Amino acid sequence: MVFEQSLEQIDPDTSQAIDSERNRQESTLGMIASENHVSNAVLEAQGSLLTNKYAEGYPGNRYYGGCEHVDTVERLAIERAKKLFGADHINVQPHSGTQANMGVYFSVLEPGDRILSLSLSHGGHLSHGHTVNFSGQLYNVEQYEVDPETGYIDYTELENQAREFDPDLIVSGSSAYPRTFQYDRLAEIANTVNAYHLADIAHITGLIAADVHPSPVGDADFVTGSTHKTIRAGRGGIIMCQQEHADDVDSAVFPGSQGGPLMHNIAGKAAGFAEALTDDFEAYANQTVANAKALAEVFTERGLSLVSDGTDKHLLLVDLRESHPEITGKEAESLLSEVGIVVNKNTVPGETRSPMVTSGIRIGTPALTTRGFKEPEMQTIAGLIVDVLDSEGSRNVQTEVAETVEQLCEEFPIYD
Ligand SMILES: *Cc1c(COP(=O)(O)O)cnc(C)c1O
Repeated sequence: MVFEQSLEQIDPDTSQAIDSERNRQESTLGMIASENHVSNAVLEAQGSLLTNKYAEGYPGNRYYGGCEHVDTVERLAIERAKKLFGADHINVQPHSGTQANMGVYFSVLEPGDRILSLSLSHGGHLSHGHTVNFSGQLYNVEQYEVDPETGYIDYTELENQAREFDPDLIVSGSSAYPRTFQYDRLAEIANTVNAYHLADIAHITGLIAADVHPSPVGDADFVTGSTHKTIRAGRGGIIMCQQEHADDVDSAVFPGSQGGPLMHNIAGKAAGFAEALTDDFEAYANQTVANAKALAEVFTERGLSLVSDGTDKHLLLVDLRESHPEITGKEAESLLSEVGIVVNKNTVPGETRSPMVTSGIRIGTPALTTRGFKEPEMQTIAGLIVDVLDSEGSRNVQTEVAETVEQLCEEFPIYD
């Protein structure tokens, strides 16, 4: 019977690829700022038979029978998220962070309305109005940038731009901004021009849950997040809003832009949020930031230049133009990947190269911190990264670094 066979029996190719990916995660240092490792509990929830269940609608109000148990799961996810974030209303159904942003746009904007958001090359996200994304195609978008000198958002400049453009919605939040956001200031600006404010906390959901980063809840009209970056609740999205927008947001998600919710992923969110309510998680979030600061210190000592000169959170943006003008972000990514250090190339403020080449690399600590790395290991790793960048292609350096990476990975296994 096909039904009873294992993945390995039915589909050895896919099974093999999953095993290889497990091996890759265990045997490399994952420093992509948007990635993390979920617990076995979250894996179990996401891999559960909840994938079988249709549950269009919301708990207690579904279009299908047999929803009593998935109702329990969705209510648990919502209750726990409320404890973590303190928002009036929470929707845990968005399939991803992009879908969460779509849910908010569809709840308060009409096609052609104006959005003011951070430019992609300065740390923004495709779903904040880029022309290749629905958000850039449906809405009239203008973008703000960080100050190229300081790397910080200049709120006075942002206010001037808002007064001129008169947006319906201001989006804050980013994928590569190493500093905290001033949500009270953003709320003030939005108020002045009578716009809504959406705080997209995709990268920092876990830091906010643990009070390591200021929370926009209470200041922003809408908050969206992903559930798989600094919070380890498995792949997905979340929307928070004030009660007055609850019905509009819920109907913009379903039936507005999604069909049945992914109940297995919502179970992952419930389990991951339960973990995030523990003291262990608070310690994890604090360590994630301490680790990023430890990296920043060594990088600076060894002559790398960091956008905004450092970090308040889980990521750093290295601008290679001064220290290593001959190495592009793309080349740095590939040099590091050869020794088992996985980062991504990233545009930097004032970028002159294309997004496929870039002059920077983004480096994050959420996944390594999950593995148990602390400041001493981060100092070692920072040193290894600079060694590779300084090596001018020396095989000896590469081999030595690769050996140290291998040892570190063996010392700090992920799933065993
Ligand atoms: C990662 C991210 C998202 C969500 O991305 P998905 O891949 O759609 O889950 C949204 N906004 C920002 C700023 C992000 O960094």
